[in-house]
Amino acid sequence: MTVPEQSIAKPVVAVVGRPNVGKSTLVNRILGRREAVVQDVPGVTRDRVSYDAIWNGREFVVVDTGGWASDAEGMAARIAEQAELAISAADAVLFVVDATVGTLDEDEAVVRVLRESRKPVVLAANKVDDARAEAEAAAMWNLGLGEPYAVSAMHGRGTGDLLDAVLEALPEAPRGTFEEVRGPRRVAIVGKPNVGKSSLLNKLAGSERSVVDDASGTTVDPVDELVELDGQVYQFVDTAGLRKRVREASGHEYYASLRTQGAIERAEICVMVIDSNETVSDQDMRILTSVAEAGRGLVLVFNKWDLTDEERRYYLEREIERDLRAYAWAPRVNMSALTGSHLNRLGKVIETAVSGWEQRISTGKLNAFLGRLVASHPHPVRGGKQPRILFGTQAQSGPPTFILFTSGDLDATYLRYVERRLREEFGFPGTPIHLQVRARE
Ligand code: GDP
Ligand code: GDP
Repeated sequence: MTVPEQSIAKPVVAVVGRPNVGKSTLVNRILGRREAVVQDVPGVTRDRVSYDAIWNGREFVVVDTGGWASDAEGMAARIAEQAELAISAADAVLFVVDATVGTLDEDEAVVRVLRESRKPVVLAANKVDDARAEAEAAAMWNLGLGEPYAVSAMHGRGTGDLLDAVLEALPEAPRGTFEEVRGPRRVAIVGKPNVGKSSLLNKLAGSERSVVDDASGTTVDPVDELVELDGQVYQFVDTAGLRKRVREASGHEYYASLRTQGAIERAEICVMVIDSNETVSDQDMRILTSVAEAGRGLVLVFNKWDLTDEERRYYLEREIERDLRAYAWAPRVNMSALTGSHLNRLGKVIETAVSGWEQRISTGKLNAFLGRLVASHPHPVRGGKQPRILFGTQAQSGPPTFILFTSGDLDATYLRYVERRLREEFGFPGTPIHLQVRARE
């Protein structure tokens, strides 16, 4: 099943502080490029934006909370409110103050929010452009947030030490995922009994064969088999059951489904075999659901094509449209495992599924897309409130997993809309997409 969200997400660092202290300049410095736009007009309203960052080999996401409309009335309250949103979604907070100005009421308002959040805080005393300003930075001890890191976002002074402190404040590094395990991609052939799974494996791997265990003199079936398709080697997992031709008689459906589940768990990509001459059944749907929930890549094989006539093909297309609409992203091959016809198309579709499964999009691109999506199609109001997507990040690939930080729970319909738009924009062929929502309570 999917890895728990806490262990896969890139940690999020929110950069907060009142307008004009140099947050955007500091974000640019952290990113090492001028992606976040610095406004010379103080307090120009900007959306919250987030970016991928890396320091000392550690990846994290930086959220620039930007500036807010500057009018004296209620300013402190509004800053605190905006900071609260960003802080609630973050794993650590980089609080920026302007050492040359000292602390103002607005700073104090943010400090109160920070204390209540109990999130780790790193304090940056900015605009310390030279040694003379160091003393002003030291005055920031009075905020009660620990050591002030004297930095100059503009010139880069002290920012290395600051980032070291930020990394230290972050939770443990995420644990390894599939992506670190190299070697051939693992593929499982799944499907209900009698659709032609063993026939397909036999055709792919050549004639029936078995491995003789010399020591015991017994014949054992290999559990996995390496098969080369279009110059790419794949490891077909749990093929022993297919080889042994264990007959999955109706009474043994339970064991068949257990074995299917095991194969799905071990695989990265599933080849789902369907009999073109039968209506898509509940059993087919259950297997497809397992594949999608486990987050495996998926290709659909419509087998026994040699037995279909024109009429059957006509109805099959309608059935696919009606019953398999939720899997429209899965590439498909019509073939005959018996004659070998169109078998040579399998490599291509598996490759497509692998590419979608591994696809990654940058946090910057994702948030530009989410911004457009939220603007053109906001979430419907629920109980007087309008849940909003604040920002998002692709926490991992294999399968593509996105974490959406929101100001409230999102409807399932809206999530499906987000997924559809993600696919329109970025593709993700042959793979389920997992969306996780982290709503601010
Ligand atoms: P934000 O509103 O907090 O995002 O602040 P900006 O990054 O837009 O910076 C506000 C102003 O402060 C800009 O004119 C920056 O050039 C200037 N600034 C930012 N960092 C420094 C710094 O380290 N030293 C000096 N002297 N000016 C800075
Ligand atoms: P499994 O239970 O899914 O492994 O299915 P098998 O590979 O054992 O196939 C079940 C039956 O369907 C066997 O009699 C096969 O010969 C037959 N079969 C498999 N693939 C095809 C095909 O593409 N066309 C035709 N006509 N028969 C097939």
